Amino acid sequence: MALKLPIYMDYHATTPCDPRVFEAMSPYFTEKFGNASSRSHQFGWDAEEAVETARKQVADLLCASSKEIVFTSGATESDNLAVKGIAEKYYERGDHIITVVTEHKAVLDPCKRLEKQGFKVTYLPVGSDGLISPDDVKNAFTDKTILVSVMMVNNEIGVIQPIEEIGRVCKEREVFFHTDATQGVGKLPFDVNKMNVDLVSLTAHKMYGPKGVGALYVRRKDPRVALAPMIDGGGQERGMRSGTLNVTGIVGLGKAAEVARADIESEHERIFALREKLRRGIMDRVADVYINGHETKRAAGNLNVSFAHVEGESLLMGINDIAVSSGAACSSASIEPSYVLKALGVSEELAYSSIRFGLGRFNTEEEVAYTIDRFTETVARLRELSPIWETA
Ligand SMILES: *Cc1c(COP(=O)(O)O)cnc(C)c1O
Repeated sequence: MALKLPIYMDYHATTPCDPRVFEAMSPYFTEKFGNASSRSHQFGWDAEEAVETARKQVADLLCASSKEIVFTSGATESDNLAVKGIAEKYYERGDHIITVVTEHKAVLDPCKRLEKQGFKVTYLPVGSDGLISPDDVKNAFTDKTILVSVMMVNNEIGVIQPIEEIGRVCKEREVFFHTDATQGVGKLPFDVNKMNVDLVSLTAHKMYGPKGVGALYVRRKDPRVALAPMIDGGGQERGMRSGTLNVTGIVGLGKAAEVARADIESEHERIFALREKLRRGIMDRVADVYINGHETKRAAGNLNVSFAHVEGESLLMGINDIAVSSGAACSSASIEPSYVLKALGVSEELAYSSIRFGLGRFNTEEEVAYTIDRFTETVARLRELSPIWETA
């Protein structure tokens, strides 16, 4: 099979919609266009039935029950609803939240806003491997702690936090535990009870579904979790999230969940093998390459590496037929090294030299082989041109 360029290897940013998902969604754009809240006719009933099927598909992926799934516009909204919704509902019980410096901005920024409103937030530091320990959480509890929020899989370095163990210490203290599992759901086995989580954020477009739709799992018993809504209106989603449901998107999210669950193990194995081939190929052929984040406790599809003496941005400019990300993010005009890599203690130079490869469902062996060749050649060429490399 001929290699098709450009190659997509940025699955942490977004994933293509699986054709099976697209096919399931298709009728809901046109003939099945009803409003799921319309109770008086077939169009509404059909839409509602489709939404409830999807709710069950998402719940099954998490080993949860349907009533615990609240549909949202994506993980950013789910994170906001979890963090601010708990804060507003339970502020009389306490005003302290624990999270981690390497969280996604969709968790960190709501926490910052709550600080302005008088809440106290502990931002736990991570080790050089990007991980925290359950004891770090234990030691940060105060009598006023109402929420702990720790992501499952980091979106830059792919490291997997010990969610089950952190959940256990939260349960002992009767503190609510939220996890942003956007990069983990559908890729790793997930069981809300086994993992001791009370709130879980996810989004369709990171698991081969469409953009603009996601969900928040909200535990209904042991303990029952209540949330202050962020969007008021028609009272959809049991009042937790008003607004006409995105039926088409929800059907897509449900189908994506079903597809992911059916193949979760074999897909993990296949993607892990591709990632290992990529990792070994690069490490064997390029000198001075450093892996960012824990070597083994990481998502199968993630490889985040720094190529010393080469700027990530220059590397990306030299390789325009492979879509990956660099660890330098453009934030309002300037290029800043990633705050996640900084938190690991990675030097500024190596942070600027970092590349995030995100492998997924549609990558092939041929693409990985081509990627190894392209990076090897391009790094060598850039280093030859680099005065820093000559003297190194
Ligand atoms: C992508 C991502 C988000 C944001 O999800 P959206 O659906 O795009 O709002 C939040 N958290 C993590 C970890 C992500 O990877």
